[in-house]
Amino acid sequence: MGCGSSSSKVGNDSGGTEPFRSDNVLVSKYKLGKKLGEGSYATVFEATDTEDKIWAVKIIDKSKCSPEELVEVKWEAEALQIVKHENITYLKEALESANYYYLVMEIMAGGELFDRIVEKEHYSEKMARDAIRTIAIALLHAHDVGVVHLDMKPENVLYQGSNDDDPLKICDFGISRKIEDGKLIAADGHFHGTPGYIPPEMVERKPYGKGCDVWAVGCLAYILLAGYPPFDGDEETEEGQVELFRQITTGSFFPFDEDNGDDNPW
Ligand code: ADP
Ligand code: MG
Repeated sequence: MGCGSSSSKVGNDSGGTEPFRSDNVLVSKYKLGKKLGEGSYATVFEATDTEDKIWAVKIIDKSKCSPEELVEVKWEAEALQIVKHENITYLKEALESANYYYLVMEIMAGGELFDRIVEKEHYSEKMARDAIRTIAIALLHAHDVGVVHLDMKPENVLYQGSNDDDPLKICDFGISRKIEDGKLIAADGHFHGTPGYIPPEMVERKPYGKGCDVWAVGCLAYILLAGYPPFDGDEETEEGQVELFRQITTGSFFPFDEDNGDDNPW
């Protein structure tokens, strides 16, 4: 899924393993700083503009994209324009050079909701409620303007700052899709999203739609409260994925590990 890879190398500033550091399209406007994060197809860096304002730039290596994926990459910038909302990362501009595609976005310096959960083990009911409410409001807006996100997970929800009450925003519209009101997207034989967060209809390669985001928000709420996902399996192995998909399609929650002394979080 997605172009590029999470194993793209991060090297020194020489531009050797990071040729974009000498790409004039980018460096004539921004000074690149530290790496902020990495996903399945992009790497995100801090970038300072000529007025010393700091942004986050999502860098996509075109050479790692198939022609279809290049279309998806362009769509992300378009989607971010369509879904503009105070709880969705703001896109300042999109730049393109011969080898790269750059999305310059507001910086979310507080990092991923994912890391915040890991740090706290789990959220209080009040914090979980507030986070889910914000995420649901942002998604409802995206759905209202005809965009389904399709990759809701704690890695794609970011905090603006390090405090727990700092604004929370959704990012990564990389695999989002346009969707007409009341319609579903035709199945194409593949699943779209991240295995632990896809709903039964996606597992079964049936037509899908806004319900995917609603299901994923349910998974998110579960994770926030329990500190572990509702459905789990080793996604790297075939047996692991079969087991994960069995849990999803039968609604069997991943059991807490009582034998190893884990307390029932519920
Ligand atoms: P991918 O499509 O490859 O998953 P993302 O858009 O999710 O790429 O970005 C990858 C990671 O980079 C995110 O999970 C997050 O850690 C970080 N990131 C993305 N956007 C921002 C931003 N605006 N500010 C700070 N960090 C960001
Ligand atoms: Mg992502």
